[in-house]
Amino acid sequence: MHAMILEKPRSALIEVQRPPPQPGPEQVLIKVAACGVCRTDLHVVDGDLTEPKLPIVPGHEIVGRVAVCGEGVERFHEGQRVGIPWLGWSCGICKYCRTGRENLCAKARYTGYQIDGGYADYTVADHRYCFPLPDDYTDAEAAPLLCAGLIGHRSYRMAGDAERLGLYGFGAAAHIIAQVAVHEGRRVFAFTRPGDRDAQDFALELGAEWAGSSEASPPEEMDAAIIFAPVGSLLPTALRAVARGGTVVCAGIHMSDIPSFPYRILWEERSVRSVANLTRRDAEEFLALAPKVPVNTHVQRYQLHRANEALEALRHGRLRGAAVLIPQGQGV
Ligand SMILES: [Zn+2]
Ligand SMILES: [Zn+2]
Repeated sequence: MHAMILEKPRSALIEVQRPPPQPGPEQVLIKVAACGVCRTDLHVVDGDLTEPKLPIVPGHEIVGRVAVCGEGVERFHEGQRVGIPWLGWSCGICKYCRTGRENLCAKARYTGYQIDGGYADYTVADHRYCFPLPDDYTDAEAAPLLCAGLIGHRSYRMAGDAERLGLYGFGAAAHIIAQVAVHEGRRVFAFTRPGDRDAQDFALELGAEWAGSSEASPPEEMDAAIIFAPVGSLLPTALRAVARGGTVVCAGIHMSDIPSFPYRILWEERSVRSVANLTRRDAEEFLALAPKVPVNTHVQRYQLHRANEALEALRHGRLRGAAVLIPQGQGV
């Protein structure tokens, strides 16, 4: 099979040919049909995340079909379409796992980071962390739901019942969550890189009431904000833009350092929180919700061997929606 691997951080992915992996007990072998490109993949490639298995096959928004069921797998059958997200395994016995917070398990392992992921023709996954996917989506369209959608939705829930919601960074996650928020009758304010008219137009097309530069003030104060961009200086910016009692949610796994800020912008019961990973319950809830909204994902397809180009397009904000890698023979 073909796979794109990262041998060491801060280097380009390399295309290799190797035999497909074999599924162990409780695992399924998946023939990959599409794999989304997430900003977290860039953080792995850039060495911002410091505990990868190396070499690693990145990719944790995997859509594929079960090719072989390992011992003990009864939940899925061969040929069934499944999705594989970022959370690849958790211990099941620690206090976090026992209380519905497996996203915080210290022993958890993550797809495309500690477990080889979906930038390949085949991958193996623990079936307990795979999900059936709604039929409403093509393989490529379903891929961004698996991280941008799931973790975006977890972040959105953490923002509470805000009527006026700010989204900083209008990429894959924001383009999904904006649709959910508008569907629920919320007013969305979208913030992009200064001068990125294309992203601003895209946000307005998806129902945002206002779109502008992250350096601009929104037309009125907001009740909550979610920061999807990995830019720490946006935290004080967002705090200044939310009303008393407002929440700022940091949705990414990595952010540049946050500059110091005066206490008065946190005062009046504003709060700041981060969101880490996802739980399987998040996945079940969001995958049921997405077709009801319905969330339409905008994807840009790249052949698998062009993974480095897709990553650079993401880095430079040149994508509308999400990039998705398609293995050869799967029809780009
Ligand atoms: Zn645990
Ligand atoms: Zn991701």
